[in-house]
This record gives sequence, structure tokens and C-alpha cells, in this order.
Amino acid sequence: MMEEHSVENMTLSQTIPPLSQDSFQQLWESVCTPSISTIPTESVNYASTDMVSLLDELTNRFDEDQLFELPGDMSSKDGVTPPAPTVPVTVDYPGEFGFELRFQKSGTAKSVTSTYSELLNKLYCQLAKTSLIEVLVGKQPPQGAILRATAVYKKNEHVADVVRRCPHHQNEDVTEYRSHLIRVEGSQRALYFEDPHTKRQSVTVPYEPPQLGSEMTTILLSFMCNSSCMGGMNRRPILTILTLETPEGLVLGRRCFEVRVCACPGRDRKTEEENSTKMQNGTKQTKKRKSAPAPDNTTAKKSKSTSSAEEEDKDKEVFVLHVRGRERYEWLKKVNEGLELHDKENKNKSSASTKQDVPLPSSGKRLLQRGEKSDSD
Ligand SMILES: [Zn+2]
Repeated sequence: MMEEHSVENMTLSQTIPPLSQDSFQQLWESVCTPSISTIPTESVNYASTDMVSLLDELTNRFDEDQLFELPGDMSSKDGVTPPAPTVPVTVDYPGEFGFELRFQKSGTAKSVTSTYSELLNKLYCQLAKTSLIEVLVGKQPPQGAILRATAVYKKNEHVADVVRRCPHHQNEDVTEYRSHLIRVEGSQRALYFEDPHTKRQSVTVPYEPPQLGSEMTTILLSFMCNSSCMGGMNRRPILTILTLETPEGLVLGRRCFEVRVCACPGRDRKTEEENSTKMQNGTKQTKKRKSAPAPDNTTAKKSKSTSSAEEEDKDKEVFVLHVRGRERYEWLKKVNEGLELHDKENKNKSSASTKQDVPLPSSGKRLLQRGEKSDSD
């Protein structure tokens, strides 16, 4: 796959601890990772009456099949449309066209409606306000290339849920794509999709080469719910995935960034950057203890991402790991899910247990998403 070019400096094999150690083996067997299909896709229970009326209204407003069949048929005309992954990939991948994003430098003033944190790779914006995103390529993509924006929940425990607008905001809207969180503004050629199998939603626009004298094209995105919306994102952090694709849907490049939709983007960005800097200092100390070679700088850069100030415990640092190969990725994901579950169970069992380091596999690599440390015997 083309994907492999982007992660050639990955050194995972050096950092994976051997499986033969008993403690880990026991740990692994003691945690039962639920398969993705057993995870409920809807974790929020609306008041049943609301749900019924919403569904009625949705059914009356448009015929879902009709609305979503059309794009599918168009894109599969050559029979080469790759199947959509159940869980969207969130690995940055510049690809052969050197696909990159750039955000406006908006600062953290109180009045700012959209601002991007390079430190956290995170966009902060207000509900329905336009965020300007610059798209750069190193060379011209093929004729008919498109840009696609998809939202996905950032945390493993939410990733199986499809990101949609909350019932309240959907009800207020009259457009046929009113359940879509991400909108493309200022283009008549925006198309709204819902995958018939995964139900994940996305919006596309044709890629337009830069205007004469400019090096990039600009797309305008807006987000139509607050991160805190009940029955919608419900305070769960999301990532936006922007892909450059062929007309047939083959991914040529991918960039991801976190998004927080809130009332005070400037203030929240400032707060979270400050918190992250504090935690960074903690991370450096931990890293010094290791004798293993430092991970590649892509990983280090991404590891700065952190969760929003109001909903996260300060001792929970989140890391992003770039993994080469789906099989290995799935494997590590399972390990991580197992550890998360184990943590959760341990927390339930004894909240006052003595703290000590998890022997494995975190000592060699602290890059997997982990909560606080807990004992593992
Ligand atoms: Zn909402």
C-alpha cells in the first residue's frame, strides 16, 4: 500500500516488549476485549418520546435511500471504489502529492471565532462559524480529485459511534444534510455522503488547483454542534479527517486534526496549551529514564495532543502512535483496549490500591493511549 511510505521511520518492532513475559500474558488473558460489533453504537438514550418524534420527522423530510444511493452509484461506476473502513484511519499521510494543511494564525483573543493550536494540532471554533483551512500539495493531483472531510471520535471507547449532530440542532435545521456535523461553506459543489454500511457521514468538494499567484487552495469548514451538545458529541473529543482522493475514492493523502467546538475558542486554546506544556515537562522526565532510542519526531510531535481542559483529568496524558501495517495496528489497538479495560476494572475493584508502574508494555513505549498508572498483578 501507498500508506507505508509515510511511516518509514517507524521503529515499533524495537519497542514492543516480548509477549513471553508471564505478567503480560496473564494480563492479556485476564482482559476480554469486546469485538467492535458488540460495542453499542448508540450510547446515549434520548428520552423515548423525543426519539420517536425525531425519527418521524426525519422519515417525513427525506427518503434516506434516495438521498444516499446516488453518490454511491456515481463513485462506483468504475467498480474500483475501495470499501470504507469501519473505523476511519486517522494517520497523517502526505502521499506522493505532498498533501498538507495550514491554518490561519488567529491567536487567542477573546473575540476570535476560530483558532488553531499547532502545539496540540487542534482547531477551536464556535458553532457554525467558518474555519478557513489552506490545502497545499507538492504536485498537481489527478483530474477530478476531491477533498473529503469526515469526523470521528478521538477516544477508543467512542470510536465505534458515528459522529452526528445532536437531535436539538438537527430539528432546527431544514437542509437535507442536517444530521451532518461538518459543512463545507461557500461551494455549490459540496456533496454530503453517508456510507450505507458504516453510516459514517462525510462531505466532499472538488479539489481546485490554486489560483494564479497562490500556492494553496482554501476550503471553508464549519461545525454545526458544540462539543458539549447533549445527545450528540456529548463532550467527546473528535478528530476531523481531511483526505485528498481520486474521483473513485482512492485516498491520495490524509491529514487529521482535533476539533473542539465551543463558545470561547481563544480562551480554551490558551488553557489547553498551558496545561499541555505543564504535562510535557512531566513527559520529558519520564523519557529520560529510557535507554531506548527516542521515537521518530513525527510521533513526538503528535504526542503533544491533549484533551480539552474541562473534561479531562490532568494526569491523563494521551499519545498518538503511528503504526505501520493494519495488522500491527489492530494488534496494538487490542492491546491498548485490553489495558484500558484492565485499568477500568482495577479502578472499580480497589480505588485505594498502591500505585506502581505497569511492568509492560508501557515501560518501553508510553505512546499508547493510557490512563493513569495502576497496578497490574
Ligand atoms: Zn448540537
